Amino acid sequence: MNKHFDVIVIGGGASGMMAAGRAAERGRQVLLLEKNKELGKKLAITGGSRCNICNNEEDEHLLLQYFCSAEKFLYSSFSQFGLTETKEFFTSHDLPLVVEANKRVFPASKKASDVVAVMEKYVRSGGVEILTNATVKKIVVDGEKITGVRVGNEILTAESFIIATGGKSHPETGSTGDGFSWLKELGCKVVKPTPSVVPLAVQDDWIKMLAGVSFDHVKVTFFVEGRKQLAVQGRVLCTHFGISGPLILNTASKVADMLLDGVVTATIDVFPGMDLGALDKHITKIFDDNKNRDLKNVMKLIAPTGTASAILMLLPRFDVEKKVHSISKQERKTIVNLLKDLPLTITGLMGNDRAVVSDGGISISEIDGKTMRSRKYENLYITGDLLHINRPSGGFSLQLCWTTGWVAGDYA
Ligand SMILES: Cc1cc2nc3c(=O)[nH]c(=O)nc-3n(C[C@H](O)[C@H](O)[C@H](O)COP(=O)(O)OP(=O)(O)OC[C@H]3O[C@@H](n4cnc5c(N)ncnc54)[C@H](O)[C@@H]3O)c2cc1C
Repeated sequence: MNKHFDVIVIGGGASGMMAAGRAAERGRQVLLLEKNKELGKKLAITGGSRCNICNNEEDEHLLLQYFCSAEKFLYSSFSQFGLTETKEFFTSHDLPLVVEANKRVFPASKKASDVVAVMEKYVRSGGVEILTNATVKKIVVDGEKITGVRVGNEILTAESFIIATGGKSHPETGSTGDGFSWLKELGCKVVKPTPSVVPLAVQDDWIKMLAGVSFDHVKVTFFVEGRKQLAVQGRVLCTHFGISGPLILNTASKVADMLLDGVVTATIDVFPGMDLGALDKHITKIFDDNKNRDLKNVMKLIAPTGTASAILMLLPRFDVEKKVHSISKQERKTIVNLLKDLPLTITGLMGNDRAVVSDGGISISEIDGKTMRSRKYENLYITGDLLHINRPSGGFSLQLCWTTGWVAGDYA
């Protein structure tokens, strides 16, 4: 094998493949190094193996706002390869796309493996030399230039280097944070990942109305795309943005994973110790004892302290002034069912950033936003999850990979 290349890309994930393919398209002689035996191992499990390729927010200004404080930094790279170019790229590589709820874009086949296949074909057809089972152990530096990488006992050299080794989540896919260590050793500013123990943001107004109130002992069940994932019991504190308390904080990292797989909803069961029948009996008795009182007042005897009016908000068609003796059996059942299943839609993790993907990485102040080139090392480019850029779930992470990968490949 030739040991000197125009460009060496380390990491055959989403951003590395895009970078290698683009550099080869420009006629560069490219080597792609991947430590796994196959390319795109993480890409293959994205979006519950359906791969949420990008987010169809067509207003670029609004799209960039999802990247929080990196909005301005990303403006130039997105103007070179943004949403439109991403969609064109995949459709022109025979991968029809569909847009689902919340503007999430998927391959029409609903198979992440098809996205991996497109990327692999892009890389191979461009003539990129691919070395799998090739773990880079060291980056070799001479002054302000990277001169080579060590794989096994060999030093492979190139004019430019693109590090695309990803973050630290799901290390079984190969993303073990090697890039973070190298960049630190190279003297670059690397932001530590923030803890995943954070409150959850929800979209529902009824819970925000309860800010400061807690449900002392409830069961919270989480669902991804309607499929049950996890149930936990304990105290839930309501806040201005969603839910918190130790129970929720300790569940956050699992919820973060769920958010990567689709829309996450949850239900709160206010009476976890009673089944529907027992709760119906309990409420019937309270109604019988308070026949001539208004529903809104009787609800205060049923619902946990301070929560009755917010819960009644979830029954907009109910006349809350109505005397409980005129509540029909069907209406009572609706109340019973609601108290067992108060609905929530989880929009993300709270924290400094509200990101669902673990953040941390090289500080963007050290990167030129037009090219993804390091400001410290003139022939070093950084892409994808290695960048310290916060974003929510919904296709934004992979969009970041397509954009930064393409731009790095275009300049390297
Ligand atoms: C379960 C899950 C589901 C997700 N779903 C979505 C989704 O639907 N939509 C979305 O936008 N985002 C999603 N994401 C986030 C998205 O997968 C990542 O943002 C993206 O894969 C990052 O790509 P990357 O190129 O930066 O790195 P990675 O995809 O992590 O690739 C890095 C590659 O570098 C290789 N590597 C690492 N160290 C070395 C080394 N020393 N030598 C050689 N090779 C090395 C690794 O083996 C790996 O293949 C999901 C993430 C997870 C964990």
